Amino acid sequence: MTTAAQGPAPKPGILDIAPYVGGKSRIEGVAEPMKLSSNENALGAGEKAREAFQAAMGNIHMYPDGRATKLRQAVADLHEVEPERLIFGNGSDEVFALLNQTYLRPGDNIVTGQYGFLAYRISAKANEGIVKLAPEPGFKAEVEALLAEVDDRTRIVYVSNPSNPTGSWNSGEEIRRLHAALSPDILLVIDEAYAEYVSEPDWETAIPLAREASNVVVTRTFSKIHGLGGLRIGYGYAPLSVAEAVDRIRLPFNVSVPGLEAATAALGDTAHQTASRDLVQAWRPRLTQALRGFGYEVLPSAGNFVLVRFGGAERCTAANDYLNAKGIIVRPVGGYGLPDALRITIGTEDQNRAVIDALSEFAAQA
Ligand SMILES: *Cc1c(COP(=O)(O)O)cnc(C)c1O
Repeated sequence: MTTAAQGPAPKPGILDIAPYVGGKSRIEGVAEPMKLSSNENALGAGEKAREAFQAAMGNIHMYPDGRATKLRQAVADLHEVEPERLIFGNGSDEVFALLNQTYLRPGDNIVTGQYGFLAYRISAKANEGIVKLAPEPGFKAEVEALLAEVDDRTRIVYVSNPSNPTGSWNSGEEIRRLHAALSPDILLVIDEAYAEYVSEPDWETAIPLAREASNVVVTRTFSKIHGLGGLRIGYGYAPLSVAEAVDRIRLPFNVSVPGLEAATAALGDTAHQTASRDLVQAWRPRLTQALRGFGYEVLPSAGNFVLVRFGGAERCTAANDYLNAKGIIVRPVGGYGLPDALRITIGTEDQNRAVIDALSEFAAQA
């Protein structure tokens, strides 16, 4: 028998990467579980996006427009930005991977927060880059802590704002302060996947900063508020020189025909965006209050999810098992170094009530 060791050896670092484990989607013996594990849109995709997806059926034998011309213009109009500075990817995950691939040499590093999104780290390591994590004692990225990790091999600093899995956010002032202290040859990537769900008054999009700066990239996605996670479309707004560099290595047809059509239609569906935001903004405080009432620590969240801490890994596992037994799938975040916490996506009213009921019963058992 051939063993893996006898086959071709992957590049250094590849086998040190822990495989990404996505949100689970099945429970043994439960036909239709409530899936609250991947921060998907509880309302699904909007009517307009679904119609556009269906209408694209006639064109799936054709290669997509590699420049994403229609979607590019629609996004540029939305944010009032230059279309040629946009980078489209197979999800914003691909935009991070492209940036890492474009800017990291072996031994270079990226800096992100201790609980920063795992996607940044995987492709950094795939490029033989080093990942430097800044402590987040308050479960929130701290400007000074990030800056303290920056050295002469740092090429990119990643901040998700709001952040996943903690739900924390940084103020516009903090982001500007971070940018002002960074050398202009270091890229600052602000991942705003959850921008549309934010209601905190001190939060600001970094798009105006990116418009003026020579080293800021802001990313957004169609996977969250637009409910199109299955179609894989995200984008970055970058300095022109960055967009042009990335374009040289981007696969020419990285975004699909139905994806482009559905995403363009989704941008025009403000009713669906509003309904999705309203649902989250109504239930985020209710869910938080209810779970705090049962004695759990619930971190303040600006996203479409909350992070709940159970005061210990064992108790957390028991809570996860209890929810699973009720047909509810949430997200354990041990992979982020948070073995005592579960991340719960804000669902529909029925789903949220089911979570509250289950955790009320679980708390009463203790
Ligand atoms: C969900 C999420 C994204 C979006 O990823 P896509 O590849 O666009 O689906 C990006 N950043 C964070 C922090 C997320 O949680």
